[in-house]
Amino acid sequence: MPTIDKTTADAADVNRDVRHTDALLKTGALQRAIFNSANFSSIATDAKGVIQIFNVGAERMLGYDAANVVNTITPADISDPQELIARAEALSTECGTVITPGFEALVFKAARGIEDIYELTYIRKDGSRFPAVVSVTALRDGHGAIIGYLLIGTDNTARKHVDTERKRLDQVLQEKNVELERANLAKSDFLSSMSHELRSPLNAILGFAQLLAIDAATITPAQKASIDQILHAGWYLLELINGILDLAQIESGKLSLSLEQVSLPEVMVECQAMIEPQCQTRGISMSFCRFDLPCFVHADRTRLKQVIINLLSNALKYNRAGGSVIVECTTNIPERVRISVGDTGAGLPPDKLARLFEPFNRLGQETGTEEGNGIGLVVSRRLVELMGGAIGVESTVGEGSVFWIELNAAVAPYVDVKESRSTAARQPQMLPAARLRTLLYVEDNPANLTLVEQLVARCSDMRLLSARNGTLGIQIARDSLPDVILMDINLPGLSGLDALRILRDDPVTAHIPVVALSANAMPHDIKRGLEAGFFRYLTKPINVHEFMDTLNVALEFADRGARPCQ
Ligand code: MN
Repeated sequence: MPTIDKTTADAADVNRDVRHTDALLKTGALQRAIFNSANFSSIATDAKGVIQIFNVGAERMLGYDAANVVNTITPADISDPQELIARAEALSTECGTVITPGFEALVFKAARGIEDIYELTYIRKDGSRFPAVVSVTALRDGHGAIIGYLLIGTDNTARKHVDTERKRLDQVLQEKNVELERANLAKSDFLSSMSHELRSPLNAILGFAQLLAIDAATITPAQKASIDQILHAGWYLLELINGILDLAQIESGKLSLSLEQVSLPEVMVECQAMIEPQCQTRGISMSFCRFDLPCFVHADRTRLKQVIINLLSNALKYNRAGGSVIVECTTNIPERVRISVGDTGAGLPPDKLARLFEPFNRLGQETGTEEGNGIGLVVSRRLVELMGGAIGVESTVGEGSVFWIELNAAVAPYVDVKESRSTAARQPQMLPAARLRTLLYVEDNPANLTLVEQLVARCSDMRLLSARNGTLGIQIARDSLPDVILMDINLPGLSGLDALRILRDDPVTAHIPVVALSANAMPHDIKRGLEAGFFRYLTKPINVHEFMDTLNVALEFADRGARPCQ
């Protein structure tokens, strides 16, 4: 038998048995591909770290020729020495042994069979540096003894670049946020002071116009009509200022609502009482829904009233002469309560309905006789949405519109009988004419002072003392012990808040109720004032009725000799 045949057969058998991988290894194809890869630096060392193989990629990345580094240096010699020290220190702490900041630090984990991939900075032959991600593997012989290490690295510059860029953008974003926050604060401050500046003259306009209107007997009908115009425009201007402030607060996220279970019948009765006088003057009939059962909604009581009053006054404003307003309350959707306000006005076409809740959109009312409040519905919508509700409108041209709000239904809150009784006791009541009362008004603005002087002059049982600043006010309070003190906040020198603190800390004056009367009318101003211990906080412009009511409550309180605040 020719031996050649046998050899050929054996070779064929072997070839069939050999696995694909072995073939690749035997031909050296795999090694060649790895070591000629220009994109990975492959550096193999002996057990001591001396470089044995330095591939094409390593040459390209590091700028050395393999011939110059093989058998000469270790990978530690082309790595950032500071990083090596840091790495050695970190490993020493981690393992509790001393690790030298050389090659050992690079392969410490790999030598213990731990897969190790880390970032380091390689230093090129020309001294320049680049970040790399390096994977380290220990090379072992057939008995498992370490005979060397393989370090495969990739250039990490691009990713580092992205990282740096991302950090820079984060920084820019953060700076922008700080800037925005600052701008927001500035806007808030601006609105605060604008509100204050507008309220002070408005207080004089509305205050004296109210005074003139009270003297109806001594003025001609034409004068009365003029005064009514002044009052009408003045209150409208105030409404606008309040609307802008509300909207600014809502937009800046600063408006805080206190959501609670609110009794809708109670709120509706209050709204009805507030709006009815206007119905009568306008000759419009109004029908309010009746509640047979208790009905509670999730809402902020004050803001809910604001929204309902807004809808009611719109229904009056945009009605026809002799028209009607119908207020209904339905619970057709489970867990929701709908309050709708229908009018018999001109109605609105669909294209205008869609734009109704946009700021300063008066929908062609610009030429009408009624000044619109382009901001009222916008504020109402935001408020209702903040309460978890919805607002909407249906309208038929020539027949009228129905505006509705929908709120989440709530369960009845637990009511303490004692508490409800004391709430009732706090209701304003007219005082029986009795002894002479003394008021002290601390105010630096002469117009405001004159206004209150004239208001008080109408009450035969009251006399007014005044002080132009806080220090003088405190002195008069100690000397004369007035029944009630009215206190401006923005005063020259000692502020109204500081003066209040001094009065309350002094046992001689601590019992006197102090009512703030200020043009600082932002919600946080009022909150701060009440927290500081003011008996009540009235904002300018003064509403004569509200002012007199508050004065009565304060005087009644003073009569009972109770301590303020508690
Ligand atoms: Mn002032």
